[in-house]
Amino acid sequence: MNYYSTNQSAPVVSLREAVVKGLAPDKGLYMPESIPHLPEVFFDEIGRFGLITIARTVARAFFGEDIPQTKLDEIVADTLNFDIPLVKVEDGIYALELFHGPTFAFKDVGARFMARMLSYFVQEQRQEEVKVLVATSGDTGSAVANGFLGVKGIRVFVLYPSGKVSDIQEAQFTTLGKNIVALEIDGTFDDCQALVKSAFMDEELNLQMNLTSANSINVARFLPQSFYYFYAYAQLARQGISTDVILSVPSGNLGNLTAGLFAKRMGLPVKRFIAANNRNDVFREYLQSGKYTPRPSVQTIANAMDVGSPSNFERILNLYGHSHEAISKDISGYRFSDEEIQSAIKGVYKGSNYLLDPHGACAYLALKKGRKASEAGIFLATAHPAKFKETVESCIAKEIEIPKGLGAFMKQKKQSYPLPRNFAAFKKALINLS
Ligand SMILES: *Cc1c(COP(=O)(O)O)cnc(C)c1O
Repeated sequence: MNYYSTNQSAPVVSLREAVVKGLAPDKGLYMPESIPHLPEVFFDEIGRFGLITIARTVARAFFGEDIPQTKLDEIVADTLNFDIPLVKVEDGIYALELFHGPTFAFKDVGARFMARMLSYFVQEQRQEEVKVLVATSGDTGSAVANGFLGVKGIRVFVLYPSGKVSDIQEAQFTTLGKNIVALEIDGTFDDCQALVKSAFMDEELNLQMNLTSANSINVARFLPQSFYYFYAYAQLARQGISTDVILSVPSGNLGNLTAGLFAKRMGLPVKRFIAANNRNDVFREYLQSGKYTPRPSVQTIANAMDVGSPSNFERILNLYGHSHEAISKDISGYRFSDEEIQSAIKGVYKGSNYLLDPHGACAYLALKKGRKASEAGIFLATAHPAKFKETVESCIAKEIEIPKGLGAFMKQKKQSYPLPRNFAAFKKALINLS
């Protein structure tokens, strides 16, 4: 399958090129030329299938022409070496727990898949080392760094805003060493993202090295996220619930939500989506008014959603032919303050003995607000609450346990390169550290 740019002024490319390049030369985002519709029998039977079977079916539909089936099946199984259970929280409200992977956040799925797919392409072509650039507001960096750790032919540069990620998040990408380099930027997440974008536009740098992105703009990262929407639905179908299913997605760069919209386009019989925003709510504003006004992000306790200019917005526009009417028919949006998120964590813990992280809490709130009584609602629990230990503990006034795998990161020594938010300095560092 070929991939075209959302800006429509770059040539179409193969999957390999789309994955290796990340961003199209006209600054657009790559989209698959067609979105395969899965057969009806697949949906009739879906309750019988497990995560790997479902993910392989979806993966083959997109990538089957470009990667041999045994290899693709292997990539899928290696990626999903953890479960994604659906847990009932209240009547009609379920959490899709996406945090059982190695870095305890949903980005493990996309990052692990992309690392394996990119490594396949690099090895197949015996290509020079590829440099992966990734800007992170917290969880992307850890998922990408761990997903790529020790993978041959690839060096990863993680750019993160100094002082704006939690200690645990920081430890997950600054302590790894090997082929992982952490760049600590004196700025915001948007500054980090802007530096990455500038690097891709810099001719000299691109002549010197093979650069690619592992942000959710990369098709190999965002498309695999559709796997678990099917699996979430399957787990409800197994219980005999298959109509009026709605999904609430805690949204930042909109990569996760876009993958859900792709799943719907592939035939997944979900009714509609809810986009949950924190105070960075440019997408909710767009849904409401049809006007899109990106602006600098503000800091919240759901910091992985602190995005003022969501990169996958272009993909959503493209998917719906730029029709605000069509988009707002499928998606409604809500926003919540830090105080509302905190009181949801407290309330749900008290009422249902279920511990939310701030991102999942935001999606839970949006579901509570937007769900009709007849609907079965799933919210995406995108991170383990222990990743936001201090915040969560202050809500429930109780200490929580850190899972073993998470605590292990904290014992290692931090290694990062501090940099100003300045392209020339960043470029020099990239060259020196390559
Ligand atoms: C990245 C992230 C989000 C936002 O996902 P997008 O795909 O950027 O919209 C939500 N929750 C957590 C925990 C995250 O790490």
